Amino acid sequence: MSLLQDNFGRKFPYIRMSITDVCNFKCGYCLANGYQVDKSDNRKFLHLDEIRRLAIVFSKLGVSKIRITGGEPTVRKDFFEIIKILKDAGIKKVTITTNGYHLDKKAQMLVDSGLNGINISIDSLDRKTFKSITGHDRLPEILKGIQILQDLNFENIKVNAVLLNNINASEKDFNSWGEFIKINKVDFRFIELMQTGDNLDYFRKYHISSKIFKEYLNKNNWIYQTLGKDAGPSINYINPDYKGKFGIIAPYSKDFCKSCNRLRITSRGDLRLCLFGNTGISIRHLLQKDDQIAELQDLILGQMKFKKESHYLELGETGLTKNLSKTGG
Ligand code: SAM
Ligand code: SF4
Repeated sequence: MSLLQDNFGRKFPYIRMSITDVCNFKCGYCLANGYQVDKSDNRKFLHLDEIRRLAIVFSKLGVSKIRITGGEPTVRKDFFEIIKILKDAGIKKVTITTNGYHLDKKAQMLVDSGLNGINISIDSLDRKTFKSITGHDRLPEILKGIQILQDLNFENIKVNAVLLNNINASEKDFNSWGEFIKINKVDFRFIELMQTGDNLDYFRKYHISSKIFKEYLNKNNWIYQTLGKDAGPSINYINPDYKGKFGIIAPYSKDFCKSCNRLRITSRGDLRLCLFGNTGISIRHLLQKDDQIAELQDLILGQMKFKKESHYLELGETGLTKNLSKTGG
């Protein structure tokens, strides 16, 4: 049972932990010019002992799932050690979000690490489009990696794409994902493009409501799957003829924040109560010694009353978020 609860009755059994801001891709909506060193912030990324203490505290607070993200989490040399630390601290489900760089080479090690789930970002199944969005011609190695994971019977593979008008939002694109999940046990979700501090022009040019995909699913007889209270933000659709599911993550939809079940830790040790918004404090000073754990627990619990009801994105508020690589998308 999660002890983390806010004033709106929401519980937080789930943490997204960014372990680095660094990324090797240049997605147009995130790090269009690639990763740039932030000269205004020379704090190092969380080190292993700090991550271990965080995991112990969250485990005590009833957190059952931690998703490791970034930046690109797999660029860290100690990435596999981090998975082990989280598991050893008693976190039941450890998952990652990755751009899939070298996934073919890493698949076996990921399975061996005891990882419980993987979200891979693939914005298009068309090699050229993939390259134009991410700046890298790496689609084949990612698809090969997904095949290897399935051959190794790895469960819980999800693929996310950011829905981009005139780039990957045509019926042809939707059909190609349909063909993919027909034969692969992979859940595919479109995420609606979010506005951040850095991407306003891109957002104006490419944002499109996810309604277009919803209409496609309804037209093609996909069945809306009703979900439990703690299911998270994806609305899912099933079809008995397909191995995988379709899903939509629509942050601008009216009730999106009602199902919020997660808190965030940035790569430099700030606790963020929302992906967007200005509420967040550094908790790093309490990650320095093992005997600070009780104090850290109280600090985190005390922050819960500051979590707001909504992200207010629809009002154009992007809070501290310059791009999602910084907060850990
Ligand atoms: N580098 C990893 C990756 O791309 O999967 C993990 C970090 S990335 C910030 C996490 C997710 O956020 C990716 O699926 C990415 O497509 C998504 N993302 C990044 N910027 C976004 C934006 N402005 N709107 C919607 N999704 C975004
Ligand atoms: Fe890197 Fe992920 Fe951002 Fe793309 S979305 S630039 S892969 S952090």
